[in-house]
Amino acid sequence: MFIVDAHLDLSMNALEWNRDLRQPVEAIRAREGHLGDKPDRGRGTVSLPALRAGHVGLIVATQIGRYVAPDNPLPGWHSPHQAWAQTQGQLAWYRAMEEAGEMTAIVDRASLDAHVARWQAATADERADLPVGYILSLEGADSLVTVEHVERAHAYGLRALGPAHYGPGRYAPGTEAAGPLEPPGPPLLAAMERLRIILDATHLSDESFWEALDHFGGAVWASHNNCRALVPHMRQFTDEQLRALIARGAVIGAAFDAWMIVPNWVRGRSTPEAMDCTLARLVDHIDHICQLAGSARHVCIGSDLDGGFGTEQGPVEIDTIADLAKLAPLLADRGYGDADIEGIFSGNVLAFLRRHWGDA
Ligand SMILES: [Zn+2]
Repeated sequence: MFIVDAHLDLSMNALEWNRDLRQPVEAIRAREGHLGDKPDRGRGTVSLPALRAGHVGLIVATQIGRYVAPDNPLPGWHSPHQAWAQTQGQLAWYRAMEEAGEMTAIVDRASLDAHVARWQAATADERADLPVGYILSLEGADSLVTVEHVERAHAYGLRALGPAHYGPGRYAPGTEAAGPLEPPGPPLLAAMERLRIILDATHLSDESFWEALDHFGGAVWASHNNCRALVPHMRQFTDEQLRALIARGAVIGAAFDAWMIVPNWVRGRSTPEAMDCTLARLVDHIDHICQLAGSARHVCIGSDLDGGFGTEQGPVEIDTIADLAKLAPLLADRGYGDADIEGIFSGNVLAFLRRHWGDA
């Protein structure tokens, strides 16, 4: 089965966690197990060989760089210019992975179709040497020094953009913040629409979510989002938000971060075993969205498995990202047929992209 993961932070892991993602997960864990600077040291779940082993042939891969004002306690850069430079370093890492034959950029219908066909035709042996396709996305727009920078970003391959991340943002408030779009938000959305960059609604504050949908006439998805009805937090979408996304033809990526799967998770204290954080609980979120939609066509995988956590904060069945396919039998148990399951693992995102990008 060909799998698409709509949200991974590979370049952040490469440059800020110092992970050589060309290595097997076990080697990365062994190299860093003695470090205590990040909660997931020695427990990472993602690497390029693991993606290939799990048949994850296409991912949406981020650049990310936050700007923080003096009164903002979150980690981040002290100027947008530094954040921009950070994202340009991340781009350089993706380019280096392309030169090494590890990854390949997917930027339009032709490159998408050729890449998917190549993966689907490959034997198991051949697949071990194929590049992982990536669609470049920007998580949080703080690093765009001006709205004009999004033109440059589009020129180097940016195809999706979430204006917000955590806290206050230069373009839109994000998770754990509140309020409407900032003044440069609407001009950014207008530029994105003109450039046909996909709007990623994930992380937008409630108010900016609705405002962004009003301002933006282009294609919308939510790369990694679960349901507020099951785990109450503003990071999750309400049924009303999910219905609005479905009405816009969005795909919504099921996120594998434990605190978004089961309620009452306490970071650093809860364990997946004690909290019963299993893939079956994640299927509850997937099923909730499918029930709202009346079909299984609006859900995909947006695992975020390298988003600052590892096995200590993920579903118990997931040792590495090669385990994503373990979701399939659980979906079948809930009555999902083969075509639905195939859609959730890849078909829904591919159909979205083919609709959006049109003819090559
Ligand atoms: Zn995120």
